[in-house]
Amino acid sequence: MAYPYGNGRRPKFVKFAPGDRGEGLLDAFYEDPRVFRGKPGKRGQIHAWGLYPHPDEDNLPEYDVMKTMQRMMATQMIYHKQDSPERQFINALKERKRKELAALDLEGRDKRDVIIRIYLVGVNDAQGNPRIWRRLRVSGGIKLSVIQDKVIAPVMGWVRNFHCYFFTQLSDGTMFGPKDSDAVDRFSWQNSIGYDWMPDDKYMLAQLYAKEGDQIGYLYDFGDKWFHEIEIEKIIPQEESDGHIEILDGKGMCPGENMHGSLQYNDFLKELDSASPAKKAEKKREILSCPNYKEFGKPPSLFNPDAFDITQATERLASALSSTNSVRSGAKIYTMPIAPTEEFNDHRSKGLKKGQTIMKNNVDEDHGYWQETVSGGSDKKKESVCASCGKPGGEALKVCGGCRQIMYCSPEHQKAHWTAVHKKQCTRNFLKK
Ligand SMILES: [Zn+2]
Ligand SMILES: [Zn+2]
Repeated sequence: MAYPYGNGRRPKFVKFAPGDRGEGLLDAFYEDPRVFRGKPGKRGQIHAWGLYPHPDEDNLPEYDVMKTMQRMMATQMIYHKQDSPERQFINALKERKRKELAALDLEGRDKRDVIIRIYLVGVNDAQGNPRIWRRLRVSGGIKLSVIQDKVIAPVMGWVRNFHCYFFTQLSDGTMFGPKDSDAVDRFSWQNSIGYDWMPDDKYMLAQLYAKEGDQIGYLYDFGDKWFHEIEIEKIIPQEESDGHIEILDGKGMCPGENMHGSLQYNDFLKELDSASPAKKAEKKREILSCPNYKEFGKPPSLFNPDAFDITQATERLASALSSTNSVRSGAKIYTMPIAPTEEFNDHRSKGLKKGQTIMKNNVDEDHGYWQETVSGGSDKKKESVCASCGKPGGEALKVCGGCRQIMYCSPEHQKAHWTAVHKKQCTRNFLKK
């Protein structure tokens, strides 16, 4: 007798509930997740757990968002109280990966610094090379959640704790992302493409590469879709590694947040290149009206989309390092104080943990404002870095005795940072209590 589900195909691992005939289910879910391996694209990369069909000539797989969404809507009542085949499959993949990572011998990579280059995919110069990129030095031991929040966002020029994101280990397609993000755009990818991911505050950068030349995928903003790649250019010997974070080099201004993703921004720049002075001024206004240049950042000292202002980027990095980690469950959101958002505020204030408060920012004349949940206490040492140099220190980090919020790797860094930066910050926080 033919198997009643999945058009007669019997899955190797997942179980269907009665009423689900496997309509719209991707082929990958009929496989056994305990041994499954996705098909790489032409650059050898595996994206989104390897779930999607992959034409040989393409680097990215074929995401059929409509099909996946339709299936999700059609089956959500059937799997109201039990795991859907997709969920069963991803849970098994996650469990397998969790064990692999627990058994992985890092061979000291977490103690070694790396030179990485992060660039926007799809925004290219006339020669086809990335037009917007940053090169920096960072410890392999930094947690993914921390490098996203305190390094990648400020160094690239994106707003911290605004849109959702994930990392992809491109050698096997494993996805890592925030555990409880409340970013406005979080649903559009998580529920329709990637299903689920490993918690990024539990894993460090060094667990995602093995050798120089390895690449890690990073997608920022599920609405606009800014695809980045992080290339491991050099792994520095342990005896030359001190864990400090430093921007070495870069090119290109960060696009305006909300400027519709890499491909549209590439077209925007091409038009800008050949635009008349009047049109150039208009396009400049468009970039500079975006949140990362207006409400949450400074306009560049000189407007040139190909220039990289390393001084400004270093300032943003330093300011991020001397702050607590972003609270993902309270990502920045623009709020108008009318009925629907009151409900939203309420939902956020109910979910506040000890010490957390909702901060209002940039309250404007229309009485709208940005709100974000911020932490009042210190971060877990395992998920923190030295506020002065960026070294991930684990239990070795010492909390500032004044504010009890930020941490240092050594008394020397605490002293230097106190004089240069923290004296003002700390007093302010101290007096507030
Ligand atoms: Zn330090
Ligand atoms: Zn302090």
